[in-house]
Amino acid sequence: MNKRGDISALIKRAASDAGFDLAGIAPVQEFQELTYFPEWIAAGRAGEMKYLESRTDTGELRRASLSSVFPWARSVVVCAINYNTAHPYSTEVSDSTRGWISRYGWSREDYHDSVLRRLRAVESKLRETCGNDMPIETRSYVDTGPVVERVYAKYAGVGWLGKNTCLINQKIGSWLFLGVIVTSLELTPDLPAPDRCGTCTRCIDACPTEALIAPYELDSNRCISYLTIEKRGSLPEELRKGMGRQVFGCDICQDVCPWNRKAPSTDKPEFQPREALVNPSLAWLAEISEEEFREKFHGSPIKRAKRSGLRRNALIAIGNSGDRSLVPVAERASRDPDPVISEAALWAKKQLQP
Ligand code: SF4
Ligand code: SF4
Repeated sequence: MNKRGDISALIKRAASDAGFDLAGIAPVQEFQELTYFPEWIAAGRAGEMKYLESRTDTGELRRASLSSVFPWARSVVVCAINYNTAHPYSTEVSDSTRGWISRYGWSREDYHDSVLRRLRAVESKLRETCGNDMPIETRSYVDTGPVVERVYAKYAGVGWLGKNTCLINQKIGSWLFLGVIVTSLELTPDLPAPDRCGTCTRCIDACPTEALIAPYELDSNRCISYLTIEKRGSLPEELRKGMGRQVFGCDICQDVCPWNRKAPSTDKPEFQPREALVNPSLAWLAEISEEEFREKFHGSPIKRAKRSGLRRNALIAIGNSGDRSLVPVAERASRDPDPVISEAALWAKKQLQP
């Protein structure tokens, strides 16, 4: 094996030692999917996620042109970790007073921190191996870099991009957190993973808000994940019914994917569910105090929705619950000084009218 091959193999071993389930290497190139990214942004599909639109001094979208951000970049190491837990769950919650939090939100530690910690261990190993004789540049990112991780993951052979736009691995499914190390080293790249969606359209058929506007194409403005986590203010009325009782994120298009049927579960302690977050009580979330929100969601990805967003989502879920025992909760929230809360509460009350 040549030196490039030696280092590539060593990185993958280091990734496995750091606890990653999968690792691969992609070359830095203008991949076809990245050329669509500016069109997707221009069509407004990213909604209010302005961070996706950050540009270089020359006006290029940072996430679509790694070479213009880091002219030295030659390879991207993509590491993936399975966060599926063995905890019994159901998106179809039978108790109408309870909602659904996307399973990545159940974790005990924000995944950005736990994935980055592992990624840094791989990065250190890489730097240590190259030593002073071979100076290299490296940058590690979990969601925050000038990289569309999923696209590099595809070209690193970690999985294919499904019609639900998630990265899917043939053996372990799509419950994956991704992290990337951008490096100046020319490493031996892996082959892209072949698309195994075939004629299946389960995810598109199951999406309750028709956010998958075409195979492989997501309109974030309609996606429950975006609406419940990223969108501030009131939510579009025409999408509220479709939100059902999803209060943070949405797992539906992954739950129905046949490649997740046999997804293994992780034993990593930080991904084990926090108490009360699997099928949480809607009344609890709708009335959660500032203090409890801070205390309960300290170090949790749920913080991103902010207290007002989480309460708003819980009230919409209450409106969709069909459960009149929740009317008093909506009644109290309708007098809330936050106009986003009072509006969602009035909507919920109206839905629950006999
Ligand atoms: S996450 Fe939910 S709303 Fe978004 S595309 Fe998937 S099924 Fe549709
Ligand atoms: S549900 Fe079917 S079409 Fe959708 S991502 Fe999974 S395999 Fe592909």
